[in-house]
Amino acid sequence: MSKVEQLVVLGATGSIGLSTLDVVSRNPERFAVFALAAGKNAEQMAELCIAHQPKFAVMADQQAASALSNLLANSSCNTQVLAGVDAMCELAAHIDVDAVMSAIVGAAGLLPTLSAVEAGKKVLLANKESLVMSGQLFIDKVKQHGATLLPIDSEHNAIFQCMPASLQNTSGLLADNGVSKILLTGSGGPFLKRDLATLSSVTVAEAVAHPNWSMGQKISVDSATMMNKGLEFIEAKWLFNCCASDIEVVIHPQSIIHSMVQYQDGSVLAQMGNPDMRTPIAHALAFPERVDAGVKPLDFSQMADFTFTKPDYARYPNLKLAIDACEMGQGATTTVNAANEIAVAAFLNGQISFTDIYRINAETLNATQNINVQTLDEILACDQAARVKATEFVKRGIN
Ligand code: NAD
Ligand code: MG
Repeated sequence: MSKVEQLVVLGATGSIGLSTLDVVSRNPERFAVFALAAGKNAEQMAELCIAHQPKFAVMADQQAASALSNLLANSSCNTQVLAGVDAMCELAAHIDVDAVMSAIVGAAGLLPTLSAVEAGKKVLLANKESLVMSGQLFIDKVKQHGATLLPIDSEHNAIFQCMPASLQNTSGLLADNGVSKILLTGSGGPFLKRDLATLSSVTVAEAVAHPNWSMGQKISVDSATMMNKGLEFIEAKWLFNCCASDIEVVIHPQSIIHSMVQYQDGSVLAQMGNPDMRTPIAHALAFPERVDAGVKPLDFSQMADFTFTKPDYARYPNLKLAIDACEMGQGATTTVNAANEIAVAAFLNGQISFTDIYRINAETLNATQNINVQTLDEILACDQAARVKATEFVKRGIN
């Protein structure tokens, strides 16, 4: 057995961060926590530091870092507290680090994740927004720096597991390796059966109540609009070096199959399991070995329904918008991702209705020239411009 792997968890206080720390605690002979990073919740971070004794903990700003230092001052914890994105980038690239869990939500995750990639680390990618924003640049850097990229998103982790070994890195072509299609499954979220006429009045509580998965607020709203599946569509294109016509979205409300790969000989391989993110996290942490994730195995005798349908774009216009953006290119996907972060935050703040999320995303994409976006500076400028536009639409209202 190899040495204990030193891990950085970016987004440690979130849903994926906590699931990661749970898997790590179950396998102390294999994984140790080198550093934790999170946004503003100093109390929760203090608890995590005391439980996992990392060498470093980073908070998004100085205020949260000072609060954390105060909380740890009288504890037995020797964790060194730092602040800001530069410190996160430095730790993600630290020479003593083997693997980095990228689980900050949204565009804030981009720079630390790229830093881990540039240092050639094993990068466990939950933060899909960073890949949606920077696609080609991200994948080019993975190759250039010899990083190992392992998908944590349950669908992409399932696809990865069903792919032939020759396609588990991003270089081969599907058709040259016997694969005919990627079948990306999604539950349809809490509004799969909701009367369309009432969607404009759904509450935040209804939108974040996912039927199968327990997740952070932003991704829960994205699941309700199916923008999440749209972002995952773009994520799959980059992770598996394919094009939009190679990917098909399938609604599977039970979330037991996490995605499938269809082969030229008619075989379809599916990865199944209970909807618990500790499975893909444990898979990626231990790859190519397997470890205990604390997840109950499936009980097929308890499975009543197992159904599949096509997505209805009238119900999920954000899914169509993201697929269209995927075909348009990097400027469009960066724009839609940024607009969506603004729109979802506005919905969660009670400023706009649920159906306004699509209108803001579509109007922002419409208002932005599909500029050629390639370098990191161009990506960040495109992201910023889309945020400004989308914020204007939130303030002014959309008609
Ligand atoms: P969450 O809201 O529960 O947690 C987000 C984490 O990011 C928190 O630790 C928060 O403190 C941290 N954070 C926010 N802003 C930050 C900043 N500026 N600097 C540093 N840290 C910051 O979200 P989540 O559900 O855990 O999702 C995290 C990521 O994983 C998202 O990109 C999401 O799309 C992806 N993902 C989540 C799930 C899931 O089941 N939760 C599944 C697949 C993919
Ligand atoms: Mg997913």
